[in-house]
Amino acid sequence: MKLQPGLSAIVTGGASGIGEALSSALGKKGVFVTIVDLCEEKGKKVASMFEKDFKELYPNMKSPCSMFIKCDVSNHSDLVAAFRRHLDVFGGLDICINSAGIGTPVLFYKDKTDGTCSWRRTVHVNLMAVIDCTQLAIQAMQTGGKPGAVVNIGSASGIYPFPADPVYSATKGGVVMFSRALVPYKSEGIRVNVLCPEFVRTDISEKVDKKLIELAGGFLPMEMIIDGAFELIEDDSKAGACLWVTNRRGMEYWPSETEKRKYRINPLKPKALMHQSQYNVEIPNSFLKVIVRNLDHNFRKATEVVRAQLNYPIKSDHVVVKILYAGVNASDVNFTSGRYFGGKEASSTRLPFDAGFEAVGLVAATGDMVNDIKIGTPVAVMCFGAYAEFTTVPAKHVFPVPKPDPEIVAMLTSGLTASIALEQAGHMQSGQVVLVTAAAGGTGQFAVQLAKLARNKVVATCGGKRKAAFLKELGVDRVIDYKFEDVKAVLKKEFPKGVDVVYESVGGHMFDICLNALAIYGRMVVIGMISQYQGEHGWKPLSYTGLCEKILAKSQTVAGFFLIQYGHLYRDHLDKLYNLFSAGKLKVLVDPNQFFGPGSVADAVEYLHSGESLGKVVVCMDPSFSKQRAKL
Ligand code: NAP
Repeated sequence: MKLQPGLSAIVTGGASGIGEALSSALGKKGVFVTIVDLCEEKGKKVASMFEKDFKELYPNMKSPCSMFIKCDVSNHSDLVAAFRRHLDVFGGLDICINSAGIGTPVLFYKDKTDGTCSWRRTVHVNLMAVIDCTQLAIQAMQTGGKPGAVVNIGSASGIYPFPADPVYSATKGGVVMFSRALVPYKSEGIRVNVLCPEFVRTDISEKVDKKLIELAGGFLPMEMIIDGAFELIEDDSKAGACLWVTNRRGMEYWPSETEKRKYRINPLKPKALMHQSQYNVEIPNSFLKVIVRNLDHNFRKATEVVRAQLNYPIKSDHVVVKILYAGVNASDVNFTSGRYFGGKEASSTRLPFDAGFEAVGLVAATGDMVNDIKIGTPVAVMCFGAYAEFTTVPAKHVFPVPKPDPEIVAMLTSGLTASIALEQAGHMQSGQVVLVTAAAGGTGQFAVQLAKLARNKVVATCGGKRKAAFLKELGVDRVIDYKFEDVKAVLKKEFPKGVDVVYESVGGHMFDICLNALAIYGRMVVIGMISQYQGEHGWKPLSYTGLCEKILAKSQTVAGFFLIQYGHLYRDHLDKLYNLFSAGKLKVLVDPNQFFGPGSVADAVEYLHSGESLGKVVVCMDPSFSKQRAKL
């Protein structure tokens, strides 16, 4: 649902705190708002401010554009009257934000009463009224027959316990579970979600221990709450979603897909699995693939394109995948030089072996025991042997994906490395300075955008004007084009306190510059060292004299990251990247240079190492498929 002029909303607790901020932000989008609150004085004031601001922005819109209704949300008949009045005045209801909430008046540990004026009141206002309002909102939306969005304002204390006010915590936990359980309304276009902020400067947080708030990273900026609520309203895929907002971790959906899988009795099949196949897949008798014939860091010298037969019968738990797009990676040359199987000696015993790390394609055949993947399902594969027209892999290693597009290949090794490394090794938070090297490349483009989405200041290095322009388009705050500026001098002058997180992939001299630019407590994530991969005699390890002294003096961390060791996180992070991409929040650039068929892989690898590529380099394994796709 796009927030746009002419929609209408009810906001409970709209006279102060989060409710007031959300009412005013909705007004800026041209949404008519009914402010429902117990406090008449504040409510009327907010409504008249709203009216004034709204008319300035939208002078031609009809009046009234807002209304205040005094109402005790714990009183059912008051609420019924408030919803009826809203519908009479605005003719329908598109959005309902349930923000009214209180802290428990008498601390539970000291409460000797029967609870009527203390914890029972909290339960009535924070939980029962939210259920009541949600039900009234759903009924109004069903009557209107249009899509609707309900956002319940929960709390981080509804996700994990808040011993300072156990009853508050219990009510918010109830709001979280209630909202998450309402997914079935999505089929009617009505989406109920819950927003769970940590500490926000409102009347409720007045009584909270200030030290605790400091430990949690301080109060959350109200803009973050507004962004979160608007995301839940505007993103039509969100229903029963719980968006957790903290200063320490930014915005994240809770629980993660991994946690959800633990409790689902009948795991929901990924959407793609349930689709009838829309693609035709034919299996030829033989196919082409790239193999590593001898170990060499020169990809062209190491590899050969050969014709192979598909092995029948297919192993019972395997699938055959017709590869459409394979991803090219800087580390392909490390693979051909034998670094991936425990060094040269161990690798040479495996020769010849199949090359290529990642691809998207279509399931072409399945083994006897594979009954949950249909032929024709678009899948992503992250197994060795992707530089081929077909590959046979264990079914458990394929990820069903919505479309077999090159952008999805980019999300695999490149996107996953950025997403997982920044989280697991970089411990990236919000409000930090994040430096990304080789930022316009396959993985760099993801790192800069994820750092921006987490509300950081992003500094990025690249070589060339075309790349610098692309990075500016992605929202990078300071692009350093090393062909025109001295990276070391810029960092020293413009970031004298240093940078907090570095996503480093160039190595050599660039590693030194980044290390010297690291702030106190800074974390440098080493994901690669492309400048060292293809020396005359291959990759020679460097020694870094004084590294320990440097990081000791500033309590810094230099953390290594190798994607292969994080396979357990692939699905969650892939889902996250795809959701951001489909919501238009993440751009994925595939390099416009086209490479077709296994015979072009060596050209593509050399192109990546030329330093000229922009975004993700891919090889299309079946040019005729792009025509078939265009017709769909
Ligand atoms: P990429 O960034 O798309 O392409 C390489 C870019 O690196 C070039 O456009 C160029 O950018 C820079 N570059 C190339 N050759 C260079 C050289 N000799 N000296 C200095 N810079 C050079 O490649 P990618 O596949 O996404 O990989 C980027 C890095 O991430 C590599 O170090 C790779 O090994 C690493 N990686 C690591 C993991 C992991 O699990 N640890 C996973 C994926 C990738 P500019 O000139 O604009 O800087």
